Amino acid sequence: MAKNQILIRGGKIVNNDSSQFADVYIEDGIIKDIGNNLQLNHIVDLKVIDATGKLVIPGGIDTHTHMQFPFMGTFSVDDFYTGTKAAVAGGTTMIIDFAVPKKGDSLIEAFDTWKGWADPKVCCDYALHVAVTWWSDKVREEMEILARERGVNSFKMFMAYKGLYMVHDNEMYQAFTCCKKIGAIAQVHAENGDLIAEGSKKMLELGITGPEGHELCRPEEVEAEATQRAITIANSVNCPLFVVHVMSKSSAKIIADSRREGKVVFGEPIAAGLGTDGTNYWHTDWCHAAAHVMGPPLRPDPTTPKYLMQLLANDDLSVTGTDNCTFNTNQKALGKDDFTKIPNGVNGVEDRMSVVWEKGVHSGIMDENRFVAVTSSNAARIFNIYPRKGKIAIGSDADIVIWDPEATRTISVKTHHQAVNFNIFEGMVCHGVPLVTIAGGRVVYENGVLHVVPGHGKYIPRKPFPEYVYSRILKRDDSWITILKQAY
Ligand SMILES: [Zn+2]
Repeated sequence: MAKNQILIRGGKIVNNDSSQFADVYIEDGIIKDIGNNLQLNHIVDLKVIDATGKLVIPGGIDTHTHMQFPFMGTFSVDDFYTGTKAAVAGGTTMIIDFAVPKKGDSLIEAFDTWKGWADPKVCCDYALHVAVTWWSDKVREEMEILARERGVNSFKMFMAYKGLYMVHDNEMYQAFTCCKKIGAIAQVHAENGDLIAEGSKKMLELGITGPEGHELCRPEEVEAEATQRAITIANSVNCPLFVVHVMSKSSAKIIADSRREGKVVFGEPIAAGLGTDGTNYWHTDWCHAAAHVMGPPLRPDPTTPKYLMQLLANDDLSVTGTDNCTFNTNQKALGKDDFTKIPNGVNGVEDRMSVVWEKGVHSGIMDENRFVAVTSSNAARIFNIYPRKGKIAIGSDADIVIWDPEATRTISVKTHHQAVNFNIFEGMVCHGVPLVTIAGGRVVYENGVLHVVPGHGKYIPRKPFPEYVYSRILKRDDSWITILKQAY
């Protein structure tokens, strides 16, 4: 069988810790060599890509997507095919989606269901977080099995969506304790679900039924309070915590302060929160406003995106996801008379890399190395797939993007590759354009043309106890045991 061999010549390799000018040689999906003027003329069928003047970066890892998610009476329209196709067109070569069981349902069955949906469709590699939406001994056993046998090292708890997915503090305490035992990272959707339920009632009673009611019933402090509470519970059992979709300044500030106090917590802002804001909920066009509805909401304070970007640049926040969960206008219209029925979710999987480059690097807030850290390497480290992913190095997977930092593109629903009929970044001009995307050693996108194959991507199992997250945690356990022994 012919080998699949690619040489990327003349580019500047950018990793999270350093940049260098060198060629990259890829064979059968793996980076085989890096060096200056690699001589490979003897190889027949060598595909040579000229990257002179361009950056060669690790493919993006989107830590937060919901493809074909059954939610609020419908399914998100981007499935694992259109979603990952759009991802690679935007320079992302791996997504981490969520298997979300209903209360009372098996976590393992949910995992198998989601994997069954993804495997035949994915155009790039993927992994699955699993949600814990209820608590019992069976849930504990299944978490252990998922960690041991299925490569799941992250479990998400919802503090919102009361009655549907929400868990209470005592259940979180149990779930966090279990995460700690099995070497997983606890993730939280941090919003106070009880307050949202009461706030929604109040808004509807006042006759506020439009999309603005979605933000008004769950202001920043509802997110900030839950963030603080999750950190407190996680810290009480010495469990590492990952706060998904950090949307507000106040919540981000709590995470930053906690990190400075030494707590092991990571924050994930998303493309939507970095690229646009909640003033859109007051847009006179209902469809436009509803298209921005997601939980937690975008914040009306227009200084929020820049603030989040600055924290991201300074390591107060760690990674970027998207919460990509797309619904067409007719689906959003399920809530035309009642904002609580508008399916929650926005796009982002295709545009995240360009939005972060434009708002972060082009604006001078972060450098190219930090860009790689927050779009790829940190995710790989936290979820224990580094340096297989998140790094251009010999032996790493050939998930690579050739990035033009000077070129621009205008984001539009007319040209995007997602299935959804709206784009929350419509009209945004972004510097930073992916020219070529290589996923698993194959060119899947080149000069505007996709060459994807559904099912080409693989499920990436993740080992427990990632060192990047757990070395401090385990050391603290040792210290505690020593202190206790001395006390008794
Ligand atoms: Zn989500």
